[in-house]
Amino acid sequence: MSNLHNINKMDRVYLCLAHMSGNEMKYIKEAFDTNWVVPLGPNVDAFEAELEKFAGEGKKVVALASGTAAVHLAMVALGIGKGDEVICQSFTFAASCNPALYLGATPVFVGSEDKTWNIDPNKLEDAIKHRMQTTGKKPKAIVPVYMYGMPAYIDDLMEIANRYDIPVIEDSAEAFGSLYKGRMTGTFGRFGIMSFNGNKMITTSGGGALICPDEATKKKVMYYATQAREPKPYYLHTEVGFNYRMSNVCAGIGRGQMTIIDDHLAHHRRIARMYADAFAGHDVIKMHLEPESYMNPNYWLSTITFETPDSQRPYAPGEEIEPCGIVMKAMDALAAQGIESRPLWRPMHTQPLYKDAPAFVDGTCERLFRKGLCLPSGPCVTDNDVERVIAILKDCVEK
Ligand SMILES: *Cc1c(COP(=O)(O)O)cnc(C)c1O
Repeated sequence: MSNLHNINKMDRVYLCLAHMSGNEMKYIKEAFDTNWVVPLGPNVDAFEAELEKFAGEGKKVVALASGTAAVHLAMVALGIGKGDEVICQSFTFAASCNPALYLGATPVFVGSEDKTWNIDPNKLEDAIKHRMQTTGKKPKAIVPVYMYGMPAYIDDLMEIANRYDIPVIEDSAEAFGSLYKGRMTGTFGRFGIMSFNGNKMITTSGGGALICPDEATKKKVMYYATQAREPKPYYLHTEVGFNYRMSNVCAGIGRGQMTIIDDHLAHHRRIARMYADAFAGHDVIKMHLEPESYMNPNYWLSTITFETPDSQRPYAPGEEIEPCGIVMKAMDALAAQGIESRPLWRPMHTQPLYKDAPAFVDGTCERLFRKGLCLPSGPCVTDNDVERVIAILKDCVEK
């Protein structure tokens, strides 16, 4: 059974609903009692210190208003601007790449390999070479993502990035607590992203953080996050800034959440194990598991694919990019029982917003979108819920 206590069991089953440890109110009350109901304050400092300890590797962390703000500020700190190109993973949530547009830069999308579902090192190198030949300029950053918490082949990606001397921003928003060769994801590149949105591994009701390489970079990022105000008794500005700091009240929630992060991680991994055992050797349903023993995902969301002739076929030219029939049928069957599920991310290079962006893809992420499904995995999901999901899915493919 789960170690998590104080679960407010609701009738509906969600993918990953926020769950409070019970310790959050103590820190929030402290903020109120000391009148630190503002951005910055003791909870922010303490939360950042806890995140630095959690990330390890001597990294410095800045707590921010969202994970998207963290991506944006990483790009600002790297000096990305109008006319620049940023290499992004196509198979991701739009928050990984939209900040490039905020800055007038162009995302260049790279497809995934089908083992981790993350950016394919071979295609990454093709993309870098092609863009350098075409534009005469190097891409300004590479933004690999750890989809659903699954580590990427980060050693290979870093080797390529280092060879071309291009900084890496690891989007680890979904991978809080995931390990690659025993090291936290988000600590390999120049910058790493954390998200504390309501549906992520831990929440601050909405928030994020940027993992920085050193204290000087942290200071610079804090400067951009607080309107780029120069150290003067009045307001002097030489650069454009943002209002992106986390509030002291939200950081109090984060401190409470950090008291049970180990329980959350154990819970997500145990649920993944239940799905994996149930679908082991199944003809049609295949659980997405780490392809290497040195990868230890947090299993933020457990994901499956349906392997049928229809689900595996590529989209026909001009065909609407939609999940295949069996995915829709499974979603409907779960929804009829009050259970939430969701297709995988629709690749960015297939989004109308990004139809003109260069893309180095081979159909792998389209195929994943066509045949994949995210299953309930969060701290409010019980063993009984998982068993119901398994039974409904098996029933659905057999009928
Ligand atoms: C959630 C998420 C983000 C953004 O985080 P927010 O805190 O919601 O702004 C960025 N990238 C990925 C891959 C995410 O899943």
